Formats: sequence, structure tokens, C-alpha cells
Amino acid sequence: MAPPYRPRQRWREGAMCRNLHVMRPEILFPLFKETTTLPGLGPRLAALVEKVAGPRVGDILFLKPTSVVDRSSRPTIEAAREGEIATIKATVEAHIEPPRNRFIPYKVRLSDETGFLHLVYFKPRIPYLQKILPEGEIRIVSGKVERFGSEKQITHPDLVMTEAEAADMVGLETVYPLTQGLSLKVIRKAIKAAMKDVPDLPEWHDGAVRHDRHWPGWKSALHSLHFPETLAETDPAHPARQRLAFDELFARQLALQLVAFRRRRKSAKPLRGNGELVEKVLACAPFKPTSAQTRSFEEISRDLESGRRMMRLLHGDVGAGKTFVAALAAARAKEAGAQTAIMAPTEILARQLARTISAFLGPAGITVDALTGRDKGKKRQEILDRLKTGEVDVICGTHALFQEGVEFDQLGLVVIDEQHRFGVSDRLKLSSKGQRPELLVMTATPIPRTLALSVYGHMDMSRLDEKPEGRKPPDTRTISMDRMDSVINAVGRAIERKERVYWVCPLVEESDVSELSAAEDRFAQLSEIYGGNRVGLVHGRMSAQEKDEAAVRFRNGDIDILVATTVIEVGIDAPDATIMIIEHAERFGLAQLHQLRGRVGRSDKASTCLLLYQGPLGEIARKRLDIMKQTDDGFVIAEEDWKLRGAGDPLGVRQSGLPDYRLVDIEAHIDLIPLANEAARKAVYEDPDFKGDHAEARRILLYLFEQDEGIRLIESG
Ligand code: ADP
Ligand code: MG
Repeated sequence: MAPPYRPRQRWREGAMCRNLHVMRPEILFPLFKETTTLPGLGPRLAALVEKVAGPRVGDILFLKPTSVVDRSSRPTIEAAREGEIATIKATVEAHIEPPRNRFIPYKVRLSDETGFLHLVYFKPRIPYLQKILPEGEIRIVSGKVERFGSEKQITHPDLVMTEAEAADMVGLETVYPLTQGLSLKVIRKAIKAAMKDVPDLPEWHDGAVRHDRHWPGWKSALHSLHFPETLAETDPAHPARQRLAFDELFARQLALQLVAFRRRRKSAKPLRGNGELVEKVLACAPFKPTSAQTRSFEEISRDLESGRRMMRLLHGDVGAGKTFVAALAAARAKEAGAQTAIMAPTEILARQLARTISAFLGPAGITVDALTGRDKGKKRQEILDRLKTGEVDVICGTHALFQEGVEFDQLGLVVIDEQHRFGVSDRLKLSSKGQRPELLVMTATPIPRTLALSVYGHMDMSRLDEKPEGRKPPDTRTISMDRMDSVINAVGRAIERKERVYWVCPLVEESDVSELSAAEDRFAQLSEIYGGNRVGLVHGRMSAQEKDEAAVRFRNGDIDILVATTVIEVGIDAPDATIMIIEHAERFGLAQLHQLRGRVGRSDKASTCLLLYQGPLGEIARKRLDIMKQTDDGFVIAEEDWKLRGAGDPLGVRQSGLPDYRLVDIEAHIDLIPLANEAARKAVYEDPDFKGDHAEARRILLYLFEQDEGIRLIESG
């Protein structure tokens, strides 16, 4: 299944684009013209085209066909098969006007030497039909053949042509995404017109890469995308399609590599410490670090000391202990006299992070505070002052941290937790803040390695591939929702044993209203059975403060059951919780189930995860639940998820921060990602200043795919 189509709106983004416009290579101008400059596209149609493609000519050209229609079949009427698309040559015999009855359609009777065929029209414009289908003349008609009683017919044929017109008709016709009021005819005509203006762009790929794979030039590949002559050309594995996908992947990787290369090249003040604070933090920690944590921290320390700015990804499954590594890094920064900013995706997580980090660092005398959108007025000002004077060593926050007016005394390190929730531009904004801080990104995003390159291809990577000792993976079971009563009884027994229970309510597609009401109903029911003071509720519509309060009460054990919508997915941390119940588990993707399950099994206590499902289960849903029972390894789950996903789960990858590719068909082209990564790395290392042979062509490529960051870097020199 194709991913949900998302029209592009980047053009509206404002200032940056306007700047880029100034420098845009002239050769690309035709592609950046408004679509209204194309013949036949007035403002009304252009607005519709914009919905599916975008406002520029280039957007139409990058509109990937969703399928093709094969009109090469030219049977006689007798041989035309029901249900198939046929293109038939026949003589117009008669127009049959229906009696004044709206329910009987208008028909045009055609014949050839083998039989008769009716063209059927509902509510037609009769003069128009008489003009295009004059009696006694030969016409070529094309459409899906149907049977009506003993007769063959085509309802609203796709094409009616004279023989002359049919002479230059192609056998294969591409089909595009449409919207109300926009016909294929309009889109095709626009593409045809746009294609006429396509410039011959210089080649940006190495000859070797191209020749080995028989890739055509860019323009000819584009032509083949829209005007295929063989079915092979419509296969994403065809060299022309591969080339276009590779262009897009390469542009993206080139921009990433440029950012990384330039960042690394600019020197940073080495953050060197004497080890005193780190020692203290380690001594006071309630556990010994895992060897993966130690190794990752060493890698980070080396980066910090190196005098080259760090750009490192700490990749580790949920529960692997990333927060502690971040705390150690902050302690090291403090040893070197620098402040650390830690960014979380939500207020609730930012506050939780501040608490956790403060527990690790407090004993070493390092001060930790939080700043979120909730802090206003005087409180906010106080925090800002303390930041500016350097009284606060570590600040945890949300986007609010990088707004105007937030100043640091000596910002040395920026840590971003669960970064896929932030855009790349956020990352840039924040690293331009202050004194060129070192950057550490932490993520548990369970995406396959290859795909990860697409997002993090430019960063150094530390992997937390080991969970803290003594962890037992949750005992995972599947239970039919029909047995709700016994589940509720089991929960009763568990809370008598002083266990704590998460209860996640169903995800209801596109309707957070019903999701909410399901959670509220369950909350009401459980409160009635076990008493309102033992059950809490969190959902997305609550204020951050309310959510926070519920989370803290659960963490502290004031309540035993926390009913939640998927807001807990991103990580309320209550290490003592041991039971996770997920209703309608069949509606979740694997990645999400894994994230949710990761909320339990965070201590040495045995834990349980109950996946409640509503039967009958489809094949994919059953496989997903089976995988959950078989493994607790996020990376294995990610690979399996990827294999199954074609059949359904749009969640995992969408959330992983994968760019909105236009010409890349991610499933078919996944193997091109490492190749593009390697080619881009090579390109940048061999010619970081964009002065060599391919430089001009690659500059054009970056503009073509609007890789703003990359462009900004090469243009600013
Ligand atoms: P994540 O990688 O998902 O962010 P956390 O940092 O939240 O994981 O850690 C999960 C839990 O494991 C926390 O309660 C944390 O205190 C604990 N933890 C972290 N490192 C260790 C360790 N080396 N030994 C035991 N427990 C640890
Ligand atoms: Mg975490």
C-alpha cells in the first residue's frame, strides 16, 4: 500500500525560501514557475493541482504516478473482454436518445465487423457528444468493457478519438492522485506541457555509478516516469525509476553530509574535565552502568575533548538507560565549566527528565532546572536569570528553551531526547544558539538500520545494545477482549499485591474523541470497582499540568492504575510499574506496541504485558502479536515491522522522522539509501567546498530538491 499522500507545502515557509530564491540557478527557473503559467491551468484548476502536487511546475513533474492503464490492447468488439480496458476501433451507427426519463442513460451505438457496442452516458451534454461521435464515422474509443444483458458497453469512455488522434496515442497511460474536481486529463495535459520546458540539467552523479546501473540522464528518466512506453518502465526497479529515486536520496544525503562536515570542521572549545564530578555521579548512582553505557559515555567524552564539534546519535531501545548517559555527559560538561540544555518533546517529559537527571546529578552538586511553556511571568524570568548568570548547570525543557530571550552563560552541550519529534530546522535553530554547542541526539526510534541512515546518515553513532542487568523481559500474553472480566479480576489481585498497572485504551483512527471516551469509560468502570482514589487518567486533552500530576501520582504510588490514551507512549517513567495492559492491541503497529510495553520491565521486578485483542484477527495483526510474544528486542521488532508494514501499519515509519520523499518508493528503493549515503559522504569529503567537477551540477541538485540547509552552507561558503 502506498503511504498516505501528503501534498507539499514547503513553499509557504517564508523567509528562508525567499532568500534561496535569490541564488537559485537560472537553469531551474522553468521548474519553479507557478503552475498557472502552464496552458490550460487557470487559477481554479491550479488550486486543485496544488492540492495534489504543489504550486510550482516542478511539483507537477515530481508527482509520481500511482498506477498505469494499459491501452495497448486493441481487440475487436467480439474479442473485447468484460472487466478489462480495451481500445476499440468502430463505426458510429446511431445516437439513441432516451425518453424523458432521467434514469435511462443516453447511448451511442457503435459497430465493427464482429458486433455491436454501446457507449453509455448519464446526464450527457448531447451537442458535445454529437460533435465528437458523428454518425457514420470511424472512432477509436477506450474504456472499461462491461456487459449489460446480452450487450457489451463502455460507460463514460475515457477516450474518444479520431483515427488521426489515435495515431499518436501511447499504449500506457499514467494515473495520478486526484482530488474533487480535478480530472486525469487536466493533470496529464499539465505534465505534458511542463515536460516541454524541462531544462537539460548537467549530470550530478559520478559516471561510474550511473553506468554500472544503466541509469539514463535525469531528463530522460523523468520522461520515462510520465510517458512510459513499456510496462517494465513503470516498475520501481527500472533503471529510470531508480535513478530518480537515487537523485532524491542523494540530494537529501548530500545536505545532511554538508551540515555534518561543516559542523565538524568548525572547531569547538574542547570540553575537558578532571573527572571529579563524573566520579561522584557514578558513586552516588543507585546502579552500576552497563558496559554499553560506559562505552557510549567514553565515545561522547572523546568527542567533547576533541575540539571538533560533536554530532552524535545515541541509539538505544526503550529502557536501555539513555538518560543516565546524558547525565554523565552533562557532568563532564560541567567539569569543563559549560552548561547543558536537554530538550524533550513534551512538557511532561521535560519535567520528568529534570527530576530524573537532578536525582543523578544533585549529589554531585550540579544544579538542574526545567523550563517549559508552562513557566510564565515571574517564574520564567527567574529561571532565565539563573540560566544567564550560570547558576543553573543543566536545563531541561521543550521548544520553549530556544525561544527569543533565552540566554545562556556558557552553553556547551545540547542533548535532544527522542528527536524524531523535532524537525531538522529546530535542530539547526538550537545549535545556532549561543556558543556552538556540542550535539547529542538520543532516540529509541525502532527503525531498521538502512532506514535510519535516511534520517541520521550524517551522525556518528553510539549504540546502547544492552539492557541493564537483571531485567527480565515482560511476560507477554495475548487475551481476547471477550475475557475482559477475568482481566479486570486479575488487575484486582495484582493491585492487592501492590503492583502498579498501566491500562492503555484503544487507538481510534482519526478520532481522538472516541479514543478519549473509551479511556474515560474504562476509567469510570475501574474507579467504580477499585475506588476513585486508586485509579488515575491521562489523555491528550488534559493540560500539561494535569497530565504531569497524574504521572507523578502514579510514579509515587499514590494511585495503582493509570488509564491512558497513547500519550504515555513517549515515556512516562514509573520504574515500579509492572503490568501493562493494552486494549485493542490489534490496532497498534509493532513499533508502538513495543514502545508501550517498554514502560514496564524497567526494574528488576518481574513484569507482565497483556495484549487484549478483538477477534477475529487478520493475518497481519496475528503476526504482529506473535512477534510481540517472541521478542523484546526493539531492533528485531523494527525489522519485522518493516517486513509486515507493507500490508498496513503506517504508524511506525511515519513517526520515525523519515522525510516526505516524492520520487522514492521507500519499499522498493530501500537498498539505494546506503548507496546514496556513501556517494554523498564521498562527494563531500572529496570536495567540501563545492569547487570540483560536479560542483555546479550538485548545487543545482540541492536546489532542485529544496535541500535548504545544504544550500545555505554551500552558498555561505
Ligand atoms: P531510555 O533509554 O528508554 O531513556 P531510561 O534512561 O529511562 O531508558 O532508563 C530506564 C530505567 O533504567 C530507569 O529507571 C533508569 O534509572 C534505569 N537504569 C538506567 N541505567 C541503569 C543501569 N545501568 N542499571 C540499572 N538500572 C538502570
Ligand atoms: Mg528516555
